[in-house]
Amino acid sequence: MATDDTYLHSMTQAPRFDNSFAALPEAFYTRQPARPVRAPELFAWNAPLAAELGLEEQTNRAEIFGGNLTPTWAAPLAQLYAGHQFGNFNPQLGDGRALLLGEVIGSTGQRRDIQLKGSGPTPYSRNGDGRAALGPVLREYLMSEAMHALGVPTTRALAIVTTGERVQRETAQPGAVLTRVAASHLRVGTFQIFAARRQLTELQTLYDYAVARHHPDAKDPLDFLNAVIAAQADLVAQWLSLGFIHGVMNTDNCTISGETIDYGPCAMMDTYHPDTVYSSIDQFGRYAYSNQAHVIVWNMAQLATALVPLMPDTDAAITAFTEAVHAMPARIEAARIRAFGRKIGIAKASLEDAPLIDDLLSRMAGGQADFTNTFRALGTAEAKDQFLDPSSYQDWEKGWRARIVSETEPEALMARSNPAIIPRNHRVEQAIQAAYSGDRAPFDALHAALAAPYAAPSDPALTRPPTADEVVPRTFCGT
Ligand code: AMP
Ligand code: MG
Repeated sequence: MATDDTYLHSMTQAPRFDNSFAALPEAFYTRQPARPVRAPELFAWNAPLAAELGLEEQTNRAEIFGGNLTPTWAAPLAQLYAGHQFGNFNPQLGDGRALLLGEVIGSTGQRRDIQLKGSGPTPYSRNGDGRAALGPVLREYLMSEAMHALGVPTTRALAIVTTGERVQRETAQPGAVLTRVAASHLRVGTFQIFAARRQLTELQTLYDYAVARHHPDAKDPLDFLNAVIAAQADLVAQWLSLGFIHGVMNTDNCTISGETIDYGPCAMMDTYHPDTVYSSIDQFGRYAYSNQAHVIVWNMAQLATALVPLMPDTDAAITAFTEAVHAMPARIEAARIRAFGRKIGIAKASLEDAPLIDDLLSRMAGGQADFTNTFRALGTAEAKDQFLDPSSYQDWEKGWRARIVSETEPEALMARSNPAIIPRNHRVEQAIQAAYSGDRAPFDALHAALAAPYAAPSDPALTRPPTADEVVPRTFCGT
């Protein structure tokens, strides 16, 4: 917990480590060190994040964050969890290729997990090799750091270490280890595993831990559920407002903290369409762009179910939890309207503004408008050119102008709500392919531009949608 003395900790002091999860009973994890790799080399180091964590002085980076050296502050372990994958309950998952190294309390007093991903097999690897290919690691680094710069709660990326080993996927690919930083790695699935096994002592311990770490004001499991619901409702509304499609919203990829986690097959839309899906394994569009608002409610219902055994009166718990989950769609909708309101220059949009917002979105879908560039261009002469039929935009614009006359500074609000640059899928893919052939320049250029997404990037090509030849319509988990 962030106690008062942690606020005294400054960036120049030694980092404060405190491995609270490792102090929980053994039922929650398996302790083990990372499996060493052949030739660890530091590919990326997130210096600003390292400074925030007090890790800027960390030596032996390639060895530590490649898994060849266990630092004195670490207590490495693989966490146990379960989860619904595409709607089917998998009673046991767990970190199959990740290890929690430990927790650091950074310069802001915030406790954060330091996790290696791709660090070798664990007892939870099932048939996997425990490794990660460089491509998906680069994708996660770019996407999670872009989301952070866009102001979205997310896990962060501290380091990439290439391993000098190959991993076999569809083809043999260079291996890498990502160091992920998170408010915690507690997931809906962490609760599900102990509820499903009727391990009520562990469930209670986990609950107490999660309350203390993330939602300290929660007085009971209903409060706690509502706090997670509130965080996830805001999160998904932000995803929608950026055209972000997570791609694999399984309950094991859904955090208790409200941070975005697990950037496997995610992508951001170019041309707007509510049914857009990128993930190659999402055959039925369960996690399509516009389904995300429904799926998150379903996920919260699974959390609610897992919390029921903590309540003294089961029937009363079910009634109260059902009500909380049923209230979530309205919460998401309100957050969505507020977020899209800001994008069209309305500081405090209410449900009365929903028709104006949704009319624009439906014209964008019909007109094959680019999501990011249309919002960025609103009110300028270029906006209409985003639509197949410019008059479709012009019709909408009249009503919009009438609505925003009462707003004080709509242009300034729009400029800080509509990014100029997002990690477009074809650019992410180009950066990965170039890195595979030894050229890291596109990765570096994209990463640098994404750090200031609301400013016009120095290379305007990065703001352009893909040409027909450049479109990358599918993403792969790469696992
Ligand atoms: P994900 O779809 O990335 O959320 O992963 C689902 C589950 O599969 C988690 O338990 C992961 O730890 C596990 N997993 C994914 N990739 C691998 C891998 N290469 N080796 C072992 N386990 C893996
Ligand atoms: Mg996962």
